This record gives sequence, structure tokens and C-alpha cells, in this order.
Amino acid sequence: MTSLTADAPAGSAIPAGRLPESRDPATGEVWKRYPVADEQAVRAAVSRARAAQPDWAHRPSLMRAEAIRRFTQKLMARREEAALIVARENGKPVGEALGVDVGVTLGLADHFVAAAPRFLRARWRRSSMLAAWRKRVTLVKEPYGVVGVISPWNYPMFLPLSSALPALLCGNAVVNKPSEWTPGIAELVKECLHDAGVPPDVYQVVHGAGPTGAALCEAVDKVFFTGSEATGRKVAMACARRLIPCALELGGSDPAIVLADANLAHAASGIAWARFTNAGQTCVAAKRVFVEASVYDEFLRLLTTAVAQLKVGPGTDDATDVGPMIRPEQRATIAAQHADAMARGAHEALRLETPAGDCYFPPTILTDVPADSRVMTEETFGPLLPVTKVRDVDEAIARANDTTQGLSASVWTSDVTRGVAVAQRLHAGSVLINDACTSAGISDVPHGGFKASGLGKVHGDLGLQECVRTKAIAVDWFQAWRQPWWFGYGAEHRAEIDAFLRAAHGASLTDRLRALPRVLRLVFAPTRKV
Ligand code: NAD
Repeated sequence: MTSLTADAPAGSAIPAGRLPESRDPATGEVWKRYPVADEQAVRAAVSRARAAQPDWAHRPSLMRAEAIRRFTQKLMARREEAALIVARENGKPVGEALGVDVGVTLGLADHFVAAAPRFLRARWRRSSMLAAWRKRVTLVKEPYGVVGVISPWNYPMFLPLSSALPALLCGNAVVNKPSEWTPGIAELVKECLHDAGVPPDVYQVVHGAGPTGAALCEAVDKVFFTGSEATGRKVAMACARRLIPCALELGGSDPAIVLADANLAHAASGIAWARFTNAGQTCVAAKRVFVEASVYDEFLRLLTTAVAQLKVGPGTDDATDVGPMIRPEQRATIAAQHADAMARGAHEALRLETPAGDCYFPPTILTDVPADSRVMTEETFGPLLPVTKVRDVDEAIARANDTTQGLSASVWTSDVTRGVAVAQRLHAGSVLINDACTSAGISDVPHGGFKASGLGKVHGDLGLQECVRTKAIAVDWFQAWRQPWWFGYGAEHRAEIDAFLRAAHGASLTDRLRALPRVLRLVFAPTRKV
């Protein structure tokens, strides 16, 4: 295992990729470094997990649920510390980290603790197919074994746990590869799980950048990946080569549609939060706003007024609404997207002031943004919001759907029925009416994108389903009678089969009843001695 001690200089001894380190985006201070797991270390971690997993899986589901319930207590006890670590690694305000990162994690844990044992219970049923009437069938949900959870930095606690908690509850061992930019919070989560009674080898964390994640994809039985579309494609290809499944939660370019009948003040404050929370670094942020022409000017006035009141500053200051972005390279990407839009004729309706620092990007609202500018065609992962005037709802929907991604969307209207009708025409994995951005944090509502925004779902029963492979066990109770389709072929057998088809699928009741005597001979044919 390549090891980097707390005082080793950045860049030493690492073959490729970025260093896992806790760096405060507001000050640039690197306050902790972590050892990098190379390929060999990843393989060793997965082997340990593989050895420990059967014992974990054999525990009753209620015992596993009890361990996760204790985890919520451990996390509650350390919630302030957790929120501060998130703020000092990610840059977001501590209060936001407490409410969203810690709060959503606790909500997820509570939900899955209650839901998983019920979900895992096997239920017998009789087959509804006439030819299989003798079968009693049950679907058994088995863990995959060792699953890899590769996660990003923007919500570094609840995103990995959205998959890791249900995976653990379903009896899997988990190896998490957190973002190299948020290793500290991953360590705290690991400690809470271990303190709660999850065996150390059943939940492990391996630190590192792309190469560590790639090595994990080569060793585990399923990969849960949350991150960018570009990396998601690499993960999907690695999994395809090994023919193992993966679930992918990828980027989005979510539209917000403001209809003329919307409560504009509500829409403006909701969209202001949905774009600028976490300094715009949210997968389901409102990233493109389309407003019906008749209310465009008033909506823009209300939106700029709402955003103008936001205070930009360090996450550790309680008065801060919008913190710095996480790293200078993320800032550089959003700055390039902004410059591209301006070069194509966009205008700034608002641009806030920021403190000095290499990660701050001023929250900015753009208007007159051409449809082919990068802000409209790419995911914008920062505090930059294009607002576009549209003729009517049809143009809004067409523009909203004009993207390769389809993560989430929002519709703002006083007519909820109309909002739902619009939602049905949007190409997105979830649509919120009169709210935005929160779809990724509701524990019992499945979250996952359409199109290039991903494969599979997290949260709810669909999220639990991702953590198990389903085995069908079909029991035949009647050994006195052979199966109708077994050997014993001949003219008589053919006539009986034909009678069976008529009884099962015949056009009239009379035809069906006439076929019955022959069918009974076929069905109750005694098993021959051989
Ligand atoms: P990223 O793709 O750069 O990194 C994600 C993770 O993948 C990191 O842990 C990284 O180290 C790892 N990684 C990098 N190369 C790898 C490889 N070849 N094989 C395996 N792992 C590898 O993404 P990011 O910048 O950390 O996160 C931001 C992106 O995540 C945005 O696009 C955002 O929209 C998306 N996101 C999506 C959701 C969702 O629920 N759909 C949630 C949060 C973030």
C-alpha cells in the first residue's frame, strides 16, 4: 500500500491521480492528508470484505437493522463535528451541512432500517400460469457479496450512504472509495458504523483518486457509482468487461419551468435556493430556467432581488449563504462556461461580490443566453444561472428536453393538475412541482436519471432492489404425476397438448370445456416407473 503520512508533501510517492486530502476551499489550507490505496491495497480490502461478508449476511435482518439504527445514534452524537468537517472540506455553510448532509443521512438510515427487513422477507405464491399450476414460487433476495461504492464530493455523506446503508442492510459488505477531495467525512462515517457494530471488514474505506476507483471496479461484485457522466461511462465499461452490474447516478442539466400562473415570489426564492445552494454544486440543481413571456420581467426582478440578498463567504461563518466552490479547477470550468456565454452575447442580470480566494465564483444570473452556448448544452456545476424567456409551455417543454441528460426537473404553477401534466412530458427521472432540487434527498422516493444521467435508482424499495440479486425458487409438490411436457410423445400426447392449448386459450367457453377431459388425462398422467 502506498502510504502518505500526514506531513508528507503533496505530490510525493503517488503514481497517478490526485491526492486524498482535506483542504479548506475558503483558505486553501490543507489540514489533513490520507494514505492512498493502490491496486494491491484495494484487492486486499476486497478480500477481507469477502471473507467477512457471509457471517454478516447470515445475521437476521433485524440484527443488521439494529446496527444501522445504532449508527444513527453515533452520528447524532457527532453531528456538529460531521457538519464542520463537510464545511471545511467542501466549503458549504455548516448549517447547510448539518441540515442536508447530516439530516438526509439520518432520514435515509431511519427509512432503510424500517424498510429493509420487510423488503427482504420472502413470500410464497402460486404461479398464475395454467401450465405451472403445481408450482409454489418464492423470490429470495440475496446480497451480491462485496459491493463497491464510488462517490463524489458535493454531498459526501448521504450520497455514498444512499447505496451503502441499504447494501449493508441487505447483507453485503461495502468498500467505499470516497472522493479524494472529501476523505475526512468518509473516515467519520466509517468510525460511526464500526462503533455501531458493523464489523470493520464489512465496511471499509479506500482512499485515492481515479486509479483507486478503477481498481475497485476490477475486484467487487457490483459497483454503485455517483459522479460525472464521463467517469460513469468508464465505470460502466469496466463493469461490462467483467459482466458485473453497476448503478450509475450521473450529472444533470435540470430545467425549471415557470408558468404564467405561478406564485412568482415562491418560484423566485425556490429557484434561488435550488441553484445557489452548495455554491451551485448539486446534481439536481435548477440549472436552466425557462419562463413564460408574460411573467418573465417580473420573475427576473424577483429572482435577482432574492439572489442579491445572498451573502458569499466561508462555510464556517454562520452568516454565509453561498460558500466557495470546492477546488480552483471546478471554478475554472464554470468561469470558462460563463466566458463562452458572454462571448456569444449573453448578459449578466446580476453578479455578486465575493471575498478573495482561489475557489470563489460570484453567484451570477445570465439572460439572453444562446441555446448553443456551453451553459445550455453542458452541466454547469457552479453558481451560474441562465434564465430564458419562452413563448409558451410547449416551447418551455421542448427547450427543457433539449439536453442529453435527464436527471430531474421542476415545474412552478398554481395549477397542480397542469403541473403534473407538464411533468409527464418532461424527460427526467423525477419532477418536482413548486419545489426543486430536493428529489435526491427523499429517502422513500426513488431517485435516478433518464438518458445520460444514469442507470438504476437509489432510495425507496427500488433502491433496496439494487442491493440484491433475486433468486426464484419454484417447488413442485406433486411427485405422483409427471409433468405434461415430459417425454411420452406420440399422437395421443400431441392431441392432449392441443387440448391443453384449447382449454387455456380457446376462443369460446364451450371449446374450452370440451377440451377439459383430455387435459385432465394429460395433467394427471402418473409418473412412470423407469
Ligand atoms: P467524478 O466523476 O470526477 O468523480 C466521482 C468519483 O469517481 C470520485 O470518487 C473519483 O475519484 C472517482 N473516479 C474518477 N475516475 C475514476 C475511474 N476511472 N474509475 C472509478 N472511479 C473513478 O465526479 P465529481 O466531480 O466527484 O462529482 C460531480 C459530478 O457528480 C457531477 O456531474 C454531478 O452532477 C454528479 N452527481 C450526480 C448525482 C446523482 O445523484 N445523479 C449526485 C451527486 C453528484
